[in-house]
Amino acid sequence: MPTMRTTNLPSGEAVPILGQGTWYMGEGRRTAAEEIAALRLGIDLGLTLIDTAEMYGDGASEALIAQAIAGRRDKVFLVSKVLPNHASRKGTVAACEQSLRRLGTDRLDLYLLHWRGGVPLAETVEALEGLVHAGKIRHWGVSNFDAPDMAELARLPGGGHVCTDQVLYNLKSRGVEWDLLPWCRERGVPIMAYSPIDHAPAGLMAEPVLKAIAARHKATPVQVALAWLLRQDGIIVIPKAGSVAHMRENRAALDLVLTAVDLAELDRTFPPPRRKAPLAML
Ligand code: NAP
Repeated sequence: MPTMRTTNLPSGEAVPILGQGTWYMGEGRRTAAEEIAALRLGIDLGLTLIDTAEMYGDGASEALIAQAIAGRRDKVFLVSKVLPNHASRKGTVAACEQSLRRLGTDRLDLYLLHWRGGVPLAETVEALEGLVHAGKIRHWGVSNFDAPDMAELARLPGGGHVCTDQVLYNLKSRGVEWDLLPWCRERGVPIMAYSPIDHAPAGLMAEPVLKAIAARHKATPVQVALAWLLRQDGIIVIPKAGSVAHMRENRAALDLVLTAVDLAELDRTFPPPRRKAPLAML
């Protein structure tokens, strides 16, 4: 097992390029024991970045993570998100405190605005900067921000401290390659690719091109989809795995090196964007 590859936040701090998503965890899709075992195995395998949100199961995902990281908080880079309707000056602080309580910790490593809502961005940034100064969060970022949103954010006081933009990015959804990814790369801001295996991966798993490439590498279509993202610089990939089998399979995607022929075949079936389209989101 090779060591986990990392990418840098703008601060220079290294974070793993493969982390763990947790949407729908703690909601009974699988037993809590199965999900906790998957999360713990993930940490052992180096997927120490765990992504959650107050929205997920109305706190159930954060509560489950608290159990999975009990006694190993310092090994984990913990990410949570504030809902846009909570993202006022006072509301952001209250939401963060609730998340900390559910997660059983005294600080988040990264706190994201889940998507843009009605609260002025400057007010949310001020609240996030205040949380950093108070030691409740170490870094902050955003999610579902398109390139013009990022440009607007960067012009605000403190807005240049944004650490990441978490966006939908997978083989079937490549719009970010047009302008958002170049904008972030130029500024050393990594992107977090959510739904990297298309949220409900049955469709991807049935794609003939993915099956053919997977067969050539003795891999699986899910691993091909993950390896396609993991080969790129400045991308943090956060698949959600509810079982230890899926966790092991996803971790092994780091070892899969796609060839130029594979990449050309993938481009033919899932072409890169040819023009600007609004940012896709789930
Ligand atoms: P995803 O990670 O693309 O796909 C998750 C699905 O894939 C689950 O049904 C999972 O099933 C299955 N799966 C995982 N590994 C597999 C494997 N090796 N073989 C077959 N199936 C596999 O979708 P996602 O959960 O939407 O996205 C990942 C994370 O990104 C989320 O969990 C969340 O943390 C974050 N996210 C953020 C936003 C946002 O607005 N910021 C939006 C969406 C997602 P099992 O559970 O059975 O393993």
